[in-house]
Amino acid sequence: MSAVRVASLKGRLSLLSEDHALDVATASAGRFGPEPLSAYDDWAGFCEWMSSVSLDWSSAALFSTIDLDTPVARPSQIFAIGLNYAEHAAESNMTLPEHPVVFTKFASSLTGADVEVTLTGDRVDWEAELVVVIGEAGRDIRVEDSWDHVAGLAVGQDISDRTVQTRGNPAQFSLGKSFARFAPVGPVTPLSQLPAGTNPDALHIRSVLADTDGTSRILQDGSTADMIFSVSEIIHRLSATVELRSGDLIFTGTPSGVGLGRSPQEFLSAGQVLTTEIEGLGSITQRMV
Ligand code: ZN
Repeated sequence: MSAVRVASLKGRLSLLSEDHALDVATASAGRFGPEPLSAYDDWAGFCEWMSSVSLDWSSAALFSTIDLDTPVARPSQIFAIGLNYAEHAAESNMTLPEHPVVFTKFASSLTGADVEVTLTGDRVDWEAELVVVIGEAGRDIRVEDSWDHVAGLAVGQDISDRTVQTRGNPAQFSLGKSFARFAPVGPVTPLSQLPAGTNPDALHIRSVLADTDGTSRILQDGSTADMIFSVSEIIHRLSATVELRSGDLIFTGTPSGVGLGRSPQEFLSAGQVLTTEIEGLGSITQRMV
């Protein structure tokens, strides 16, 4: 049995298994859904329901990835962590942060797993990122309890307009990373659905760019084990200030290999197709227009 993922399909909470989808409101007789947030608001109950019912996949319909929306359309908060991999901090000519560098991607930039992205200038860059989805809310979460507050993990991209991101002194990150569809997020893999033996703190992550001539290159190829602040540490530190709420998203930073750090620098252009993959979580794709 392949992993069951949690998604929003045309705005409705859905379970995915390979290329088939089950509508949760129908399958649960209205206990959960159709609003996707209803799963994260009662994540323990949702997991219990998923594991106790025998889901009738024979009634599941084929779905198209272009119909996937962002898994949580209106999270109460979206956190993004900057410079969270040492090699990426070095390629950005920044010193290693003592505390997590936190910014936001505004919610209107969220989008699904298979979309077109309109380039906003000639310095739009890629950042492959592991996205954490919060289940049980909490404040002052201890490092050792952090994973208990994670519903699941997803593949994300922190697409960034470097011109807007770096203008001004001090520069501010959030606006340059919040243009339309600059925050694609794939379906959520519940922690219980990670392949056996997978260490959620050490996931292979990479981004691949296909050019208009059909050639492809691996741009980023790393492991989430190289994060400066691990998922547990991020949750611990964020929750020391703010309440983490069900359905909140955390973009956890990107490994080295972004366009800004390349020599010569390189940015996205129309016609290119960007694919981001994370071990055990699947992949997402953006077509640049
Ligand atoms: Zn980022």
